[in-house]
Amino acid sequence: MIVPDRTGTIAGYRIWRVLPGKWVAPSESLHAQTCQRSWSTTGPTVAYCPPRIQGDPNRPLVMSGPCEEAPGFGCACGLYARYEPIEEEVLLPYVMGSVLAWGRVVHHEDRSFFRAEKALPVAFVRPRGGSGMFPREAEEKLYRIVEALNAGMVEDSEELRAYTEEEARKW
Ligand SMILES: [Zn+2]
Repeated sequence: MIVPDRTGTIAGYRIWRVLPGKWVAPSESLHAQTCQRSWSTTGPTVAYCPPRIQGDPNRPLVMSGPCEEAPGFGCACGLYARYEPIEEEVLLPYVMGSVLAWGRVVHHEDRSFFRAEKALPVAFVRPRGGSGMFPREAEEKLYRIVEALNAGMVEDSEELRAYTEEEARKW
């Protein structure tokens, strides 16, 4: 982990969960994979630190939160992304995509991810099918999210990388 910096924009890759169904508005339907927080579909998502977050279930409860500035050191808050695209196939309701991230960034190079203060989804990989309930509804919802974000839709992780690096150069 190195000192957070406030300069530059970095590209990252991550998985989201799409909430299917008409009963959840598209603007509330792009969620982090493992928590209930939704990502913005109209602009950058900004990290916040929920109180008393438990970073690692194998460790004692981390009581440092909420951080004054998210993401904080020794905490698990922030917007997570990996440095490299994820190679495994991702099935709905999960979807792989990319972000441009900036602001305060904490790097965990040993575990190949970072935590950022601000991130904007750039592109998503077109889902090849779904598991779980309502894959069709999840796919339909994903297209509405992509449209709202004006994000790209690509066919695989290689194309995702190329698209995202191209977008990063425009910043
Ligand atoms: Zn925190």
